[in-house]
Amino acid sequence: MIEIRDLVVTYGRATALDEVSLTVGKKCITAVLGANGAGKTTLLRCIHGLVSPRAGRVVLEGVDITGLPPEHIVRLGLAHVPERRGVIAQLSVQDNLLLGGLWRGFRERRAHTAAGFDQVFDLFPPLAQRRRHLAETLSGGERQMLAIGRALMARPRVLLLDEPSLGLAPQVVAQIFAVLRELSQLQGITVLLVEQNAHSALSIADRGVVLNLGRVVVTGAASRLATAAELRHVYLGF
Ligand code: ATP
Repeated sequence: MIEIRDLVVTYGRATALDEVSLTVGKKCITAVLGANGAGKTTLLRCIHGLVSPRAGRVVLEGVDITGLPPEHIVRLGLAHVPERRGVIAQLSVQDNLLLGGLWRGFRERRAHTAAGFDQVFDLFPPLAQRRRHLAETLSGGERQMLAIGRALMARPRVLLLDEPSLGLAPQVVAQIFAVLRELSQLQGITVLLVEQNAHSALSIADRGVVLNLGRVVVTGAASRLATAAELRHVYLGF
């Protein structure tokens, strides 16, 4: 679904990604793991066109998207849920969701908005009860649900998520990860999940990639990574 080849990203003299190559399989969940500063967020931002690579390629379903504007990449079927959620606090739940589908043309929007609301409220019932409330009144877990819901309003085939478990209670994380599993298995959405919470991420992922200091150090089946003792200690911290 996504082919990343020899991606290099620098910030001034610091190298954040150093010849990163990886394949993200269609309809799978791929977990990107690693410590603080490993380059996980930079990888997602680069795929979404928010950061330009110094070298390398990002290919989405055979289309080279390297350097395309972010809104163009969304139109090609990719949505991104950034770290710390990025919902607009002063807007209602419903208006935040509407923003997710805004880039579509008027007719398409009219046809799909109601179905989009139904899908999001079905996946996240707490949002349905609070659809007219301001986002600032939501709990952390509900805000994360809203951020994912907003991305789904764009009807993506690929969903990028940056640390969705950050700061949430374990039972809320389990609820959100179960939805990610459902999106992948039942709706065929390809998920690229950046997480520091390696244990939870590997429990729902099909494959895992470990980054360290901007380089890919391990890739493999999630079940293998979860049990590899040396990885657990050195890179994953559990
Ligand atoms: P975290 O889990 O802490 O978010 P990460 O694995 O997502 O870490 P990145 O945020 O991608 O890592 O950062 C990779 C490296 O690039 C780090 O050394 C970071 O300090 C540096 N970096 C990230 N963004 C910038 C920026 N805008 N300007 C300068 N350096 C940056």
